Amino acid sequence: MKFEELDVKGKTALVRVDFNVPIDEDGKITDDTRIEKAAPTIQYLLEKGAALVLMSHLGRPQQEKLPDGTVDKEQFSLRPVITTLEDHIGCQVEFVEDTIGEEAKAAVKALQPGHVLLLENTRFYAGEEKGDEDLAKAMAALGDVYVNDAFGAAHREHASTATVAKFFPSEKKSFGYLMGAELAGAEKLLDNPARPVTAIVGGAKVSDKIQLLEKLLDFADHIIIGGAMAYTFSLAQGGKVGNSLVERDKVDTAKQLLEKAKAKNTEIHLPVDTVVGKEFSNETPSKVVAAGAIEDGWEGLDIGPDSVARFSRIIAESKSILWNGPMGVFEMKNFAKGTNAIAAAVAKATKENGAYSLIGGGDSVSAVNQAGLADQVSFVSTGGGAMLELLEGKELPGIAAIRS
Ligand code: AMP
Repeated sequence: MKFEELDVKGKTALVRVDFNVPIDEDGKITDDTRIEKAAPTIQYLLEKGAALVLMSHLGRPQQEKLPDGTVDKEQFSLRPVITTLEDHIGCQVEFVEDTIGEEAKAAVKALQPGHVLLLENTRFYAGEEKGDEDLAKAMAALGDVYVNDAFGAAHREHASTATVAKFFPSEKKSFGYLMGAELAGAEKLLDNPARPVTAIVGGAKVSDKIQLLEKLLDFADHIIIGGAMAYTFSLAQGGKVGNSLVERDKVDTAKQLLEKAKAKNTEIHLPVDTVVGKEFSNETPSKVVAAGAIEDGWEGLDIGPDSVARFSRIIAESKSILWNGPMGVFEMKNFAKGTNAIAAAVAKATKENGAYSLIGGGDSVSAVNQAGLADQVSFVSTGGGAMLELLEGKELPGIAAIRS
């Protein structure tokens, strides 16, 4: 069902949001993007006269239990989210320290249209991550309609993201605005994109991105590779990588990808120079060397200025751009230049060349935020793993469950 066709007036809407936000030791949210992006869906449902029951996970309470084997209900409570959520939606939020029990049921029963109730962390139940039917059924009993807006968790087949949807007929379930926007963003790149299409792939490991790279070979005109990943490709070309981070067991995969690219007429662009440091620290002595010529005792930490210039030229001529993964160790100021320059090039192509640019989750999102350019690209995804899987062409369980 299309979101705006969902009949919600006077109904209780069970809304799965993704409030899995970073929270520091003082209980302060350090990045509230996911809460901010869930606000339009919440506000729309309130305006339409629904009562809202929000559920989300936070962290990994089942994997990080207390020494006595119980769930740490303090560390992983959703309570710190309340005030930030209230600020974004402009109304009060009720909270229960319960998800499907008597307390939660009583709070849902007392809920009036226009009011918002936040339930406690869905992952306090071991059944959540197992997609447990009984847990999902108990969740489903809390709402008349189900809205899934948790894109960041859409690649998980969990009770609150996928199984719960089985208990609602198609006219009583839908995606929210955020999920709709994320799907539209990915579709824009995958279905008949404006050409040339350039994918910029970086980050630490080739192994995490093999499936993405395979898929990109089918539809990208250019693939730019940066980050530590590039050193495994350099090894595949017989280069010297010194002490750089590499995956020696993925050298053959890198070779195969380079060969397939030739066959498919996709150009893979590797860095031509590298900023190397003596050790993995911001203050380490550094210099620029040619790619494939990194001496022992030095490690590659960023792409060099010639690579920036070449990559920027390709980006400037692109009409569709996907970016996933930083070009270097951007968390260290002295090695963030390559990543920042690529962020600027993507923003410029968006503005001056009318390119559609999608920042595909995870560390590249932190990188555009750090560069202050998040509002100058076409779309910034809230889901790292989910966006990656969507772009790899996989059907995400959270999406399939709404569509079925
Ligand atoms: P990923 O999660 O695979 O996208 O990887 C992101 C991480 O890759 C970031 O934390 C970067 O610091 C790291 N990274 C990027 N380039 C390098 C490099 N040259 N050496 C070590 N780590 C890197």
